[in-house]
Amino acid sequence: MSVASVNKILLYYKFQPIADPDAVRLWQRDLCEGLGLHGRIIVSKDGINGTVGGPIDACKTYAKKTREYFRGIEFKWSEGGREDFPKLSVKAREEIVSFGAPGELKVDEHGVVGGGKHLTPEEVNDLVENNPDVVFFDGRNAREAEIGKFKNAVVPDVETTHDFIRELDSGKYDWMKDKPVISYCTGGIRCEVLSSLMINRGFEDVYQIDGGIVRYGEKYGNSGLWEGSLYVFDKRMHTEFGGGAEDPNYVQLGHCVHCGEATNRFYNCANEPECRVQYLSCPECRERNPYCGECA
Ligand SMILES: [Zn+2]
Ligand SMILES: [Zn+2]
Repeated sequence: MSVASVNKILLYYKFQPIADPDAVRLWQRDLCEGLGLHGRIIVSKDGINGTVGGPIDACKTYAKKTREYFRGIEFKWSEGGREDFPKLSVKAREEIVSFGAPGELKVDEHGVVGGGKHLTPEEVNDLVENNPDVVFFDGRNAREAEIGKFKNAVVPDVETTHDFIRELDSGKYDWMKDKPVISYCTGGIRCEVLSSLMINRGFEDVYQIDGGIVRYGEKYGNSGLWEGSLYVFDKRMHTEFGGGAEDPNYVQLGHCVHCGEATNRFYNCANEPECRVQYLSCPECRERNPYCGECA
């Protein structure tokens, strides 16, 4: 009888000044290779951002060793394993989240300098309850918000995080500069940067959610201020909170681009590589027509 070993995925990031990112990259690569982990890790002068998967004991050793250098780093444990990643990729880049503003972000031993105030999920609800002016600002790509977002959220017109600076500088959002703004993203890392970029541009009262949508959804399911599904960057493409899409409080936001039927399923347009669009489709329409609305 074979005993199946338990596998896990670790998700983590830490903003911390790194004097020699390339040395950290080599150390992380050797560490993961020695432990047989697969995944993606990015190191920059401002910190580390990674997802690795493998046997649970290897993950534990990885977390312990990584914590010796990145003190206070928090690991989120998730289901999955090495096979969820094609290989191990460890890179040193200009930024750990690619906003195209490597010179603007300031990081010290406590993390990002001048970022938005951190809120727990409970504090998010309190702030909204006590202040009718609060605005939710989506810190993700517009596509992700097609299947789920905070109630009445402002969704900027961005395809990649690189577009945020152009959007913020456009003047479109100047009306919210004196209002309380809660920026949010999947796990919190993008808003660490985005909220500081907003404050640098004159947004006066900016917040971010500790642990992002994931932690909020784990706390409130479909009974809070979150509506719909959460876009995720793995094979599943989306996930639901609480009682899932069957929950009577679940709000259906996504619709098939071809027939309008309710769906949360994203597909890659079959017109690759010319078209790199991910679009929403019901399985029936996908069978008949594997193209996005533009290419169909
Ligand atoms: Zn359809
Ligand atoms: Zn297309």
